[in-house]
Amino acid sequence: MTTTRSREVHLAARPQGEPRPSDFALVEVDVREPGAGEVVVRNLVMSVDPYMRGRMNDVKSYVPPFQIDAPLDGGAVGEVVTSEDPSLAPGDVVLHGLGWREFAVGPAKGFRKVDTSAATPSAYLGVLGMPGLTAYAGLFAVARMLPGETVFVSGAAGAVGSLVGQLAKLRGGTVVGSAGSAAKVAWLTDELGFDRAFNYHDGAVAASLASAAPQGIDVYFDNVGGEHLEAAIGALKVHGRAVICGMISVYNSATPSPAPRNLALVIGKRLRLEGMLVSDHADLQGEFVREVAPALADGRVQARETFVDGIENAASAFIGLLRGDNTGKMIVRLG
Ligand code: NDP
Repeated sequence: MTTTRSREVHLAARPQGEPRPSDFALVEVDVREPGAGEVVVRNLVMSVDPYMRGRMNDVKSYVPPFQIDAPLDGGAVGEVVTSEDPSLAPGDVVLHGLGWREFAVGPAKGFRKVDTSAATPSAYLGVLGMPGLTAYAGLFAVARMLPGETVFVSGAAGAVGSLVGQLAKLRGGTVVGSAGSAAKVAWLTDELGFDRAFNYHDGAVAASLASAAPQGIDVYFDNVGGEHLEAAIGALKVHGRAVICGMISVYNSATPSPAPRNLALVIGKRLRLEGMLVSDHADLQGEFVREVAPALADGRVQARETFVDGIENAASAFIGLLRGDNTGKMIVRLG
């Protein structure tokens, strides 16, 4: 009997600042035989996500840190090749949490069948997956955005941000986005229907935001933190809301980031700044898919993906994600 071999990415060292290729190791292992109730899955696509940077630090957080010399994990979609459980059969395409490897083995209950006639496997890692639900829940459940409101989203050309802006437009909002290149800004305004967008490298964020939204903003969807959050606090109207979803501008920082210098404005303007975790909003999964899947199918929502090929390039895809190499969802294609 021949044993199947699988390559997987291990954490070789905890990154200091920006991750480097030497922080990762590509390791070849035997794929173990599945036990009763388990499946073997050949991964087709895997996700690299900004939250993984936090898991590379040895700190207590809402998810446990990755371990040195152990495989990384994260979202992936693959095809069942062997099943020892009646709930799944060879050929089924499944979403699960054992990414960063070519083959995954585990209890069938950790693998959820997805419908590939309705969407591509990678869509379940992006627009119809965790980032999509983050956008939907943040905008509608946390910010409670209303039709006619002005929404500002940072990281607007990324997986979460690009859906936030499009959903806000579908609900009758005025949308301003910020992103890190002229090409991304053009994509937001010319193809996704954002009302205005700016490149945050072009000048002070507060000045760019003031000119893009001279009447102020009702909602800020924060993917970036730092200068963006300070500018948004300045631009929010009385009773405005900020969803604190991510702070990618500080993920590689070794020192704590300074607080927004204008935080006192929260009092006079009676602002609500609320942190969110997508895992608290699993109850919205059904309504999220019912609203977004048809919009994706008929083109009212667009989902761009940036593909990197091969498990051997997964670490550089992750490093590139933190640098802004992606437009839309960053996906690693395997197999
Ligand atoms: P993205 O697809 O948006 O990719 C990350 C993007 O961040 C890059 O493309 C880059 O775009 C931008 N970026 C990197 N460094 C900076 C910087 N210094 N300043 C401004 N922008 C920067 O990732 P996701 O859509 O997956 O995630 C977006 C945010 O949402 C992240 O902060 C993530 O941690 C958070 N998140 C939070 C969740 C929650 O439950 N709270 C769940 C999922 C995501 P550019 O070229 O524009 O700089």
